[in-house]
Amino acid sequence: MTTPSLLILPGDGIGPEVMAEVRRIIDWFGAKRGLQFDVSEDLVGGCAYDKHGTPLHDDTMAKAQEVDAVLLGAVGGPQYDNLDFSVKPERGLLRLRKEMDLFSNLRPAQCFDALSDFSSLKKDVVAGLDIMIVRELTSGVYFGEPRGIFTEGNERVGINTQRYTESEIARVARSAFELAMKRDKKLCSMEKANVMESGILWREVVTEVGRDYPEVELSHMYADAGAMQLTRWPKQFDVIVTDNLFGDLLSDLAAMLTGSLGMLPSASLGAPMENGRPKALYEPVHGSAPDIAGQGKANPIACILSFAMALRYSFDQGTEAARLEAAIEKVLADGLRTADLMGPEGGIPVSTSGMGDAILGALDASL
Ligand code: NAD
Repeated sequence: MTTPSLLILPGDGIGPEVMAEVRRIIDWFGAKRGLQFDVSEDLVGGCAYDKHGTPLHDDTMAKAQEVDAVLLGAVGGPQYDNLDFSVKPERGLLRLRKEMDLFSNLRPAQCFDALSDFSSLKKDVVAGLDIMIVRELTSGVYFGEPRGIFTEGNERVGINTQRYTESEIARVARSAFELAMKRDKKLCSMEKANVMESGILWREVVTEVGRDYPEVELSHMYADAGAMQLTRWPKQFDVIVTDNLFGDLLSDLAAMLTGSLGMLPSASLGAPMENGRPKALYEPVHGSAPDIAGQGKANPIACILSFAMALRYSFDQGTEAARLEAAIEKVLADGLRTADLMGPEGGIPVSTSGMGDAILGALDASL
């Protein structure tokens, strides 16, 4: 079997700091669990612009298309704010997502018990929460035509079009069913079939795809009811699949059930490659945090959890992903806190690398 390949793009600001901790964890899995990766590293964002005059060099794009998974830190910074729109750091990230055709965006909402006080909801509602929102990312109302602001008679009218083809719905549904198979085998599809034709088609196609996954318990919910249920009792869900617009709202809502930005990983998946693995980009939800960059204050957990997602969803290493998540849980339960996690109850302050050291220690203890 060939060694799985991983392209690491640390990017700007705190990106390289948090990624340095991920590199140590990747090395740990190689040395202690025999999990070898063919790791290469390259530039994206402002640092790529500084070197090549473009936020993503064509060679880097080509590499991203070839590897089994891409792991990205963050891009951007105030020194790039005045660049032309076409070469802004964020364009590098957008090019990756577009050319890899990453149509399925995975945003987990996972609440570590030790941080359940960080949520605005009651502790028993969020403690132990572990759900996944799958958002369709490349179609729907953000892309549909016609769109624009037009004049009709003597007033202006703003138009956006919700448009989904069967195949666009089917591929994101399939990706959600595949995920559900690796989790608790429960999938809830959310749309507004009561008032939108695209919602009726969405429900029909998801149901059709579901026939290939008889083990997965499929349910349907109107997206507005879904938002209510997510805040009332989120633990009733495992995987949720929804369109681009509803997914944008519901994934932000679900993410904030769990507290800090420094804890939130994400993945964007595309079509399966020849080896059966989906094209994949893993990245923390946070940005380059220029206000704390270079000070050893960044929380590396979102980026480390993004690697845990890669282990589970690209490399079929669910048990090792769970080992890594349990190590993080342990360190948090022991009271270790980067600055962003320091609540009123206090904790043991640690730097970025201090958090990495502690997670490596907990991994050692798990053997
Ligand atoms: P941000 O996520 O970088 O920071 C928001 C706040 O959260 C800041 O106070 C920051 O210190 C804090 N924070 C973020 N990540 C943290 C971590 N891991 N540990 C501790 N604290 C953390 O968002 P912003 O300030 O709006 O944007 C800063 C730059 O990042 C901008 O150039 C923006 O365009 C870019 N950005 C990039 C991405 C990405 O690469 N995916 C996403 C969002 C923003």
